[in-house]
Amino acid sequence: MSELNLVLLGPPGSGKGTQGERLREDLDLPYYATGDILREAVREQTDLGRKAKEYMDRGDLVPDEVIVGAIAERVDSTEAADGFILDGFPRTVPQAEALAAKLSELGRALSGVLLIDADDDEVVRRLGGRRTCVENGHVFHVEFNPPEREGVCDIDGSELAVRDDDKPEVIRHRLDTYHEKTEPLIDFYDHQSLLRRIDGAAPPDRVAAEVERTLATLKLEADEAI
Ligand SMILES: [Zn+2]
Repeated sequence: MSELNLVLLGPPGSGKGTQGERLREDLDLPYYATGDILREAVREQTDLGRKAKEYMDRGDLVPDEVIVGAIAERVDSTEAADGFILDGFPRTVPQAEALAAKLSELGRALSGVLLIDADDDEVVRRLGGRRTCVENGHVFHVEFNPPEREGVCDIDGSELAVRDDDKPEVIRHRLDTYHEKTEPLIDFYDHQSLLRRIDGAAPPDRVAAEVERTLATLKLEADEAI
């Protein structure tokens, strides 16, 4: 069987996380979210974990090469022999270049990059409408999943509030960062014919079906290339 080495891309609120969860179950491939990988490397005290911890302890950003190294430790293990799903990294072109170089050292390469896309208005509508229970973090949505009583959690009766992350100005800022840093990555992968665009504005089941079709095609292409 050929390996399926995937990167998930998409703006915040595109449903990328939801699709990633499904993929992890459907494909039975390890799912690497950058934050988790770093935390695990730190916990397991690998060489890179110790290095990453030095930066984290100082409150500094962990440099790209340390992150790529931590990802490589995982990719190069038996759990990822059939492939992996990477989410949250790369976010910039230099990171993508560092990742490609590292994978190539390991005799691997990406099979495809799935872009779960959504335009800014849709993102603002989705994230801006979220209401989170202040006590227990239950999440509602004014439009898609409204609570029975406005401003009150159905489950425990606690107050519902807009999380800082979901405030309009914060969403706009996250989108600005995405457009500035991550969008060039879309072209980067498109030029390498790795990019597959999926409309994240459709309902989750339709998006999942589209992802499935796209992956079937990718697998077919990978098998033919052997
Ligand atoms: Zn609650």
